[in-house]
Amino acid sequence: MIRGIGASAGIAMGKAYVVPAWEWDFPEKMVEVSDLAYEYERLYDGIRSSKDELELIKQEIKEVVGQDQAYIFDAHLAILEDPIFMNEIQEIIERQYKAAEVAVKEVIDKFVGMFDVIDDEYMKERALDIKDVGNRLLKHLLGDIEETAPPPQDHPYILVAKELTPSQLAHLDPGRLLGLVTMLGGTHSHVAIMARAMSTPYIVGLEGKLLRPIQNGDFLIIDGQEGTLYINPDESTIERYLARKRNWQEFTDSLQEIADVPSATVDRTVIKLHANMNSIKELDQVLKSGAVGVGLFRTEYLYMDRDSLPSEEEQFAVYQHAAARLGGKPLIIRTLDIGGDKKLDYLPFPKEDNPFLGYRAIRISLDRKDLFKTQLKAILRAAVHGNVKLMYPMITTVGEVRRANELLEEAKRELAAAGLPYKANIEVGITIEVPAAAVIADMLASEVDFLSIGTNDLVQYVLAVDRMNETIAHMYDPFHPAVIRLLKTIIDAARRVGIPVSVCGELAGDIRALPIWLGLGIEELSISVQSLLHVKHRLLRSDSGQCRALLEHILTCKTSAEINALLDQIEQAEAVAGGNTNGIGR
Ligand code: PEP
Ligand code: MG
Repeated sequence: MIRGIGASAGIAMGKAYVVPAWEWDFPEKMVEVSDLAYEYERLYDGIRSSKDELELIKQEIKEVVGQDQAYIFDAHLAILEDPIFMNEIQEIIERQYKAAEVAVKEVIDKFVGMFDVIDDEYMKERALDIKDVGNRLLKHLLGDIEETAPPPQDHPYILVAKELTPSQLAHLDPGRLLGLVTMLGGTHSHVAIMARAMSTPYIVGLEGKLLRPIQNGDFLIIDGQEGTLYINPDESTIERYLARKRNWQEFTDSLQEIADVPSATVDRTVIKLHANMNSIKELDQVLKSGAVGVGLFRTEYLYMDRDSLPSEEEQFAVYQHAAARLGGKPLIIRTLDIGGDKKLDYLPFPKEDNPFLGYRAIRISLDRKDLFKTQLKAILRAAVHGNVKLMYPMITTVGEVRRANELLEEAKRELAAAGLPYKANIEVGITIEVPAAAVIADMLASEVDFLSIGTNDLVQYVLAVDRMNETIAHMYDPFHPAVIRLLKTIIDAARRVGIPVSVCGELAGDIRALPIWLGLGIEELSISVQSLLHVKHRLLRSDSGQCRALLEHILTCKTSAEINALLDQIEQAEAVAGGNTNGIGR
């Protein structure tokens, strides 16, 4: 068994189809001065054909996985229209008399090299986009070059590649594609996003972990949740995974039955289950999951994959639509949380050695008041159309809340002056994800209407473990006693001040953590929509009294190993008392 990183959940079993690494090999052809015009013509033809092909792929993608994923190819089209990219190619042809394909390859290599050396997942993704576009353009310029051995036509397969581009994935027949394995790539790459949307299991990060390269035709099992890979496993492993695969599917399908059941424990403790939403496109799924509202709408995705800031009207349209469709259910809109790993192409950022400790989230909003007030106005106006609340991310000081609220008041005054309707008494909350904020949670709580704990960042900041760093990923431990203590500090503070507190980080959707939330007396969780019903399933057979007693023990534990052992015990006790879950949902 080899352990990589799970990028898209699910189990796939089948033969490997290995894609050779991207490589074009052709002679350094020169052209005569008299042929320059012809060379340009070839270049423009190649660009036109590449663009036509990209438009077709966009169409196909829309039909297979939906409009949501097709935007990736807009980025590729934009590269083909980028004047810097094109000028560099033309200059090489014109000044060095090189053939169009040679010029294209040189420019691709230069740009890919520039992005690739930056130790940043986002930049590496951009390098892959450029390589992908360049690959396509070269194919049209060179015509007769064999791209790669085509995928098998006679059987379904698990694709294995050093790295994979969105175009390559788009070209594959989803009916035959069982799963994906790549040596490089992150869980936040465009390919990972697409794989999740297609429900295709995917493992990344196997570079240096294989004793021998995977061969075409090897039989593989991949578990995209655990990130595990088996090459030519024995019969008993195959049997085990066949059973798991069947169970997983049956169980996931059956969960829909509990979508409308009230979310309460056996001893009638209610936890309100909200959904996290990254895009308005997820609204249907949110409503289907039985979520009582949206506890976190990450607005930054509205700002991405475009070339300018969204206007107040554009944002208003999105927020208003979501608010109206949710009816009276709450919609908590978190203001822009960019910085860290989330950058905007069109907004210049200073180069930072520690971007997660840098210019991020509310720090940017308080610095770029124009940008912040535009968003606040859109939210205030949308709030007239539903149960909208506002949330500031990454708050560290009371001063930041006060400054943000001053700008909120300014936004209200400007709307009033413009004669536009808005909700004056909108509820305002903050995420608690910085340790300093956790420590002064009582002080912050007295300034706002609600708190929401962002465990993704809180864990990385408390433990000093970068959430993006694969090398220390094993140290990212949400069950470290320090994390549990801090969670208790925050929840107790909110309760003392008398305001609601919820959890919106990924830990809210980890069914293993549920006894901790029940023990701490949390009343609301906000969970990614794929995990919501899994958590609810466990909640329905949990006993909050037992969880409170368990928490007393947990708080005395000095290591996360002890805490994990206690969590195992309660899980086993629940299985005995209320029927087995087949270990599913972990
Ligand atoms: C968090 O940090 O837990 C959170 C919900 O925010 P994000 O994952 O968007 O940083
Ligand atoms: Mg966060």
